[in-house]
Amino acid sequence: MSFDYLGLSDELLSAVKDAGYTEPTPIQKKTIPATLQGRDILGIAQTGTGKTASFTLPLIDILSQGRSRARMPRSLILEPTRELAAQVAESFEKYGKNSKLTCALLIGGTAFTDQVKLLDKGVDVLVATPGRLLDHMERGNVMLNGVEILVVDEADRMLDMGFIPDIERICKMLTKKIQSLFFSATMPPEVKKLTDTFLKDPKEFEVSAPTATAVTIDEHLVQFRGDDKLKRNILRYLLENNDIKNAIIFCNRKKDVKVVNKSLNVHKFSAAELHGDLHQETRTEVLDAFKKGKVKILVASDVAARGLDIPDVDHVFNFDVPSNPEDYIHRIGRTGRAGKKGTAITLASQSDKKYLDGLFKFLDKKIPLLKIPEEVLGGEKKTAKKDNKKEPENQSDKRNKGESKKSGAKEENKSHTNGKPVVGMGDHVPDFLTR
Ligand code: AMP
Repeated sequence: MSFDYLGLSDELLSAVKDAGYTEPTPIQKKTIPATLQGRDILGIAQTGTGKTASFTLPLIDILSQGRSRARMPRSLILEPTRELAAQVAESFEKYGKNSKLTCALLIGGTAFTDQVKLLDKGVDVLVATPGRLLDHMERGNVMLNGVEILVVDEADRMLDMGFIPDIERICKMLTKKIQSLFFSATMPPEVKKLTDTFLKDPKEFEVSAPTATAVTIDEHLVQFRGDDKLKRNILRYLLENNDIKNAIIFCNRKKDVKVVNKSLNVHKFSAAELHGDLHQETRTEVLDAFKKGKVKILVASDVAARGLDIPDVDHVFNFDVPSNPEDYIHRIGRTGRAGKKGTAITLASQSDKKYLDGLFKFLDKKIPLLKIPEEVLGGEKKTAKKDNKKEPENQSDKRNKGESKKSGAKEENKSHTNGKPVVGMGDHVPDFLTR
């Protein structure tokens, strides 16, 4: 099916063609016609499914009639993070290049005055993070009574970031007649309550089960016993031994983002860090360098990287198993986007065990194991050679195949004593580590 049958204007179809899209994605096929008919929408879709265009495209056509007034935007798009908001604004530029619509971005980390100037001129599309929008509202810079369409994107992440009360506050200030579109990768009860309250007889679309990962992603799990230093060694081994054009490495903690990035740089990898402690300007620069291929590896925290639209990321690494299993879906969704092939590798030591069990339960499946050579794991060289012929099944394999916890634990202890789990930089340093 081509875009021609969705009811979009010729100007928009031409912009879509210029963007290089030949066929609408499933969420676009479902959302675009219903939005053009004026329906409220509840789209359950993860990032990478083309959901941004699914609301941006019809919005451009709907808003093409009418004019904006000073400080009274005609549509409002709420995004959980600054980067995501910036990306949506970019999408508007890309798809709306044949229209006269104006778009303003209200995000933290940039000056109020420039944002006020834009609001004063009147904007058709306002893309904002909840905090900055409320700041502007309190200062009287923006009024929401002219809003005809509201989009709440990544509602589940809004919940994670504590934005639900802000969203409720904002929604209550809108007139009852507006059309509302809500998107979320998952539907926790708090989000369900929000959509039940604010959506009117919505058309509901689910493009994949909330716990499903994209079929274009090859998932792997590396299980080992050892500390974070060994984890970094394994990570470097994987970076060296996979055909990687670019990669995102996720860490659970900001502290680890910094350590992993520093370590990669020491080992001469082209890496940069992205986390909430950085100034907005630096975050934008880092992202830009990564998008342009000047930096090959982005080490990121979940919040900073949420929803980033970076085309062609071919590898995602989870330096830790995410504490929130839903983050696994979001993280690995950075690769395998829009039908492209991607690889996601998760590293799990014994300290990730608790989260890993939760993840397996959430996914309702096991992740295929990836074996790492003994010398990388810090085993004896002799053992490694012998093992080359026929590697004994490692303990984690056994655990994954459903052996009792008790026997797994016993085996683990054995391997711990035998295998010198922590890689010293002495005898057993693989070649690439010495670079
Ligand atoms: P999103 O889920 O909105 O973050 O989009 C993921 C990626 O898919 C972005 O890089 C979009 O530019 C791209 N994309 C969106 N719609 C299509 C389409 N119909 N065909 C191919 N790529 C698309």
